[in-house]
Amino acid sequence: MTLNFLIGGDFVAAEAGATFDRHDPVTGEIATTAAAASISDALKAVASAQAAFAEWSATGPEARRKLLMKAADIMEARNADFVASMVKETGATTIWAGFNAHLAAGMLREAGAMTTQIGGEVIPANKPGTLAMAVAKPKGVCLGIAPWNAPVILGTRAVAMALACGNTVVLKSSELCPRTHRLIGECLNEAGLPKGAINVISNAPADAAAVVKALIEAPEVRHVNFTGSTGVGRIIGRLAGENLKPALLELGGKAPLVILEDADLEGAVNAAIFGSFMNQGQICMSTERIIVVDAMADAFVEALAKRAAALPHGDPRGKVVLGSLVTEASAEKMDALIADATAKGATLVAGGTRTGAIHSATLLDGVTPDMRIYAEESFGPVKSIIRVRDTDEAVRVANDTEYGLSAAVFSQDITRAFEVANRIESGICHINGPTVSDEPQMPFGGVKASGYGRFGGKAGIAEFTDLRWITVENPKQHYPF
Ligand code: NAD
Repeated sequence: MTLNFLIGGDFVAAEAGATFDRHDPVTGEIATTAAAASISDALKAVASAQAAFAEWSATGPEARRKLLMKAADIMEARNADFVASMVKETGATTIWAGFNAHLAAGMLREAGAMTTQIGGEVIPANKPGTLAMAVAKPKGVCLGIAPWNAPVILGTRAVAMALACGNTVVLKSSELCPRTHRLIGECLNEAGLPKGAINVISNAPADAAAVVKALIEAPEVRHVNFTGSTGVGRIIGRLAGENLKPALLELGGKAPLVILEDADLEGAVNAAIFGSFMNQGQICMSTERIIVVDAMADAFVEALAKRAAALPHGDPRGKVVLGSLVTEASAEKMDALIADATAKGATLVAGGTRTGAIHSATLLDGVTPDMRIYAEESFGPVKSIIRVRDTDEAVRVANDTEYGLSAAVFSQDITRAFEVANRIESGICHINGPTVSDEPQMPFGGVKASGYGRFGGKAGIAEFTDLRWITVENPKQHYPF
């Protein structure tokens, strides 16, 4: 059965009846047949969100909180639906899929808790007898575009705080997981949000550019958030700029994990394994560069390679740590990165094998700047190890990238680790923890080519509201003429 749009609280087919198929990356079977939006369908979703704005923005914080909390409960109760859909559409493991629905429910609760924190301030005014306020107001219709790799977390993140602030939303789902993304809308809709406060549309891959352009250009759309690659992020940023719409861009990463010579070896290995291979390395915060100081390198690489080689991989329906990559093309890219690096002198110390879209946990030691994998986001389970002389070289290499999302440093000397963390150019940095970490209340976002703007906590309120300057004045005030 075709997966239709969620518009105005109803499931709606595409005007022209168009559909597209998403295939299971492991079995090749059709996972989902979804409605394919035309520009006119997309604008229908925008109109529905605009129509719901008056009611939702006037709904009090307690009522908004209650509905978001209820949606979180529904999301948790439907965990099995999310897991089944994610495994089929993206090849993710059940562990990753279950965690997605769990964290996303937490994001809805955190957003719900913030509804009473959307305030402003009273500002001392120069004009006598004046009360001046800065008041945070919802913007209107917000557009969210989320990817497939952590689909429940990132799809929910694209709408939760926007809704908490009193905005209405259109979520444009990923072509690779339309069912998983629509499920998020279903939870909010079932919770009882006004019809049209949340809309979810899907589109065929070939129509993405035209549909996204029409959505950003629609006059009712007042804010755009996009999580995805830096390449598409630049297009979205350009379109938003031309249309004078603020944009929150969460883009690619090339996270460095810096291991200093006094690191806790076991702790560093555990963080490297988790950060590198969770969800097959398909996380924006995935450890992409393991930068290890020479004095520690031999012992660290030996222990790491042993662990990586033992990680079970295969059909995500089985007991595995690494499931499938999202497409076979992604797995082919891993082969190309390995071939390029080994031809230029890197040593394969773990993995290097694949069956279809399933790729083993792979480590390349001795990676140098002339190799593709040194600079390119692999977004897969192939990881580079870069050996460096000392702390200064480690920092230089950590910053030798266009990206700046997440980072981590391992050292038992916290003063030293803190100093290194301060020198790394990234939006996020963890000392003695993995590069992969997310909590709903934290300011999440990057610098450089990883984008701009922040989701999460109070930073999210600033993104999804406009501050209005409002005064109450003395009508008998003095004028110069
Ligand atoms: P992607 O950039 O391919 O995103 C695809 C989205 O862009 C889809 O919704 C598609 O419809 C749209 N799109 C494609 N072509 C377009 C065009 N010409 N004009 C306008 N829109 C277009 O990314 P992806 O493969 O879905 O996700 C993987 C990327 O996302 C990785 O680079 C990863 O690092 C990044 N990511 C970042 C974060 C973060 O928080 N910073 C989180 C997860 C993933």
